[in-house]
Amino acid sequence: MKELELYVHIPFCVQKCAYCDFLSASAEPSKRQDYVDALIREIRGYRQAYAAYHVRTIFVGGGTPSVLTPEQIRAVFCALRESFCVDQEAEVTLEVNPGTGTREKIQAWKEAGINRLSIGLQSVRDTELRMLGRIHTYRQFLEIWDEVRSAGFRNVNVDLISGIPGQTIKSWGQTLETVTNLQPEHLSAYSLMLEKGTPFHEKYGEGKQIPDGEPTLPDEETDRLIYEETERILRAYGYTRYEISNYAKEGYQCRHNVGYWKRKDYLGIGLGASSLIGNRRFCHVSDLREYQKRVKNRRDLCEETTLLSVKDEMEEFMFLGLRMTEGIKKPDFYRAFGRTIEQIYGEVLARMERYGLLEIGDREVRLTDRGRDISNAVFAEFLLE
Ligand code: SF4
Repeated sequence: MKELELYVHIPFCVQKCAYCDFLSASAEPSKRQDYVDALIREIRGYRQAYAAYHVRTIFVGGGTPSVLTPEQIRAVFCALRESFCVDQEAEVTLEVNPGTGTREKIQAWKEAGINRLSIGLQSVRDTELRMLGRIHTYRQFLEIWDEVRSAGFRNVNVDLISGIPGQTIKSWGQTLETVTNLQPEHLSAYSLMLEKGTPFHEKYGEGKQIPDGEPTLPDEETDRLIYEETERILRAYGYTRYEISNYAKEGYQCRHNVGYWKRKDYLGIGLGASSLIGNRRFCHVSDLREYQKRVKNRRDLCEETTLLSVKDEMEEFMFLGLRMTEGIKKPDFYRAFGRTIEQIYGEVLARMERYGLLEIGDREVRLTDRGRDISNAVFAEFLLE
């Protein structure tokens, strides 16, 4: 049987955060129930088509999957397990917003076989949380933290955001040290991105004037120091950086995301979800009504399908693989494409090594620390004519 990863999208949030451009919105309970009904119908429709696969990871993301009721979570997982051959040892992750967890829900997550939680904390400072438009305080996070630990969750990620307006190296360091003292098994530390169409972009985008007295975005130098500080503090607390923005204790890398960076087959389920099966990337419709109509009428949910050429696949192999600290393995490249990496990228590899951006061994290629600082520029060098 072939390996498969599943991603399930829950496009609902209590309210929209000021920086977020993900496919999510607030919705009343009846709308959420209609969506869950459609989702379950979609899941059941895959029974035949994916019978040749076994599922090694499930990731329920959003949006805010933790807005679902215990009954809805049970129903979704029941449909998943009845429709797919899910490994007994599968990694099963649920994204959690601390403002939406309850003891009853946490119990239901456990009973549904969820064995990994990813909690979106972002900052331990309530002023920063308010600025981001988050619905929770740090105290609420701590309450959820205690509950999930008491319920027996032993594989938990905490999401943090750096580069928040007004943030200093000191305040970022305080967030990191406070969270690492709780000893989560995994930490994701992303820099704030100003996405078009968000209130943050409206306020802080290029050329905007911030009124006197209001906090501004950290300057480039502070941003660079924040980046260095993250690695220093997390290393001291026993975390290994295994991807540009992800850190884990030994044995707790996120298998689902590693599969994504290694271009394993994954199937996206739900509104706007994207998939990679073989050399086909496809993406579902992102309009809720259209999605529900198509599910009801058993019509194709795809809005966009791309058949990747060998050249596209080679480029993806490089961009995604180099995100990981271990880099890419030369024999894997040969196995995937029947050509050595030097035959395709010999000149680029030599040049990037000369600039001190890549480290090249007999069997692997990885970014140096400097290469990681300007990773997007390095990735661009791997585009083929
Ligand atoms: S909770 Fe997450 S998905 Fe929802 S609006 Fe905030 S950042 Fe976006």
